[in-house]
Amino acid sequence: MKLRSVRGTHDLFGDHINKFNIIQKVVLKYAELNNFKQIQTPIFEFTELFEKPLGEQSDVVLKEMYTFKDRNDELLTLRPEYTTPMIRAAVTNNLLNELPLKVYGLGPMFRRERPQKGRYRQFNQINFEIFGSNDYIADLEIISLAHDILNHLLPETNIILHINSLGDRDNLLEYKKNLTKFFELNKLKLSEESNQKIYSNPLRILDSKNEQDIEISKKAPSISDYISSQSKKNFEDVKVGLNSYNIKFIENYKLVRGLDYYCGTVFEFKTNELGSQDTLLGGGRYDGLIGTLGGPDISGIGWAAGIERISMLMKNMDNYLSNIHLAVSNERFKSHLIKIMKYLKLNKISFFWNYKYNLKKSLSKASINKASYVVIIGENEFNKDFYTIKNLNSGIQTELNIEEIHKFLNDQS
Ligand code: AMP
Repeated sequence: MKLRSVRGTHDLFGDHINKFNIIQKVVLKYAELNNFKQIQTPIFEFTELFEKPLGEQSDVVLKEMYTFKDRNDELLTLRPEYTTPMIRAAVTNNLLNELPLKVYGLGPMFRRERPQKGRYRQFNQINFEIFGSNDYIADLEIISLAHDILNHLLPETNIILHINSLGDRDNLLEYKKNLTKFFELNKLKLSEESNQKIYSNPLRILDSKNEQDIEISKKAPSISDYISSQSKKNFEDVKVGLNSYNIKFIENYKLVRGLDYYCGTVFEFKTNELGSQDTLLGGGRYDGLIGTLGGPDISGIGWAAGIERISMLMKNMDNYLSNIHLAVSNERFKSHLIKIMKYLKLNKISFFWNYKYNLKKSLSKASINKASYVVIIGENEFNKDFYTIKNLNSGIQTELNIEEIHKFLNDQS
């Protein structure tokens, strides 16, 4: 048997797993800072959890779900997205008693898409959701959180926020009807794929990548002419709020998102640095969904980001590596080494040591990793019970007693 991995799946190791762990760490930090609670759900659920809410005519349900029959004939599906499992978990565990509920999770999703750069059949997502508020402040909170996390992880990447409002459910229904009428008239000019969506899912024609479809869509009715005055006002408030947060955005009336449950504010963070799979993060409001799934009739808003796509853009890992390296010249000084390791741990200062009793090799590793400081432990340091800290940027060496190190490093930053 020739060993091989399943098409569209990948193993995480080396740089990839390091980036994955950094992303996870940053997400946890922002979740804690913003009071989101973690929920991890199983990777498979009953198929019915996804079919209706995502839309029976959506690409995901039509052709991308990994569905199988269990031995007792129940239909199960590997989760293709996280919002519906999160809602299921909140309802079945009675977590919606106190609102709003702010939750997040991260883990693998499964979609049988055609694999290409940035598109896999098993991929990892980060998800943040706020259940129980239809206030536009929740829209702002969730979008600015996405903005902060992406900015932290990808400070050098050109990322653009696209936003749109789909109005409320009735507005959307009316709009879809008129869109169908419009595309019916242009049927002959549309691609075959789009032709099949005229009646079932006309919104999706708007984000077709086929040039001819794009041309026709330019003349299609715009959702902005269908949304109610209340939805318009909400959208205005969101835009004013984003401006006050200094978050740049562009209004994109063609932005509709792929799943049926969206309404109100929808958004995507895109980049031109990834090729055709250019969306890093997408989300929006789904008022009505929680009620449809059997929970209370409350609002919801959230987003999902692809970990693989973020990590493809993380160029400079140096910012995330340990800034402080240790260098020991001889095994005889082990006790002095252990002393500083304990001290750094106690003070929550992250450090790296290459497990070599060789100053030259450790210093060279520190320089490769672009560390800022090296704590040097040699004969003198051991005998006289002090540590030498070398600043690798300036070359300056400072001799310190152990209890002075924390303050010294703090003063430098
Ligand atoms: P969606 O649920 O389709 O809005 O996806 C949210 C985010 O998940 C996207 O913006 C991507 O970053 C990521 N994503 C979705 N599908 C895939 C896939 N097949 N492979 C890798 N990442 C994906």
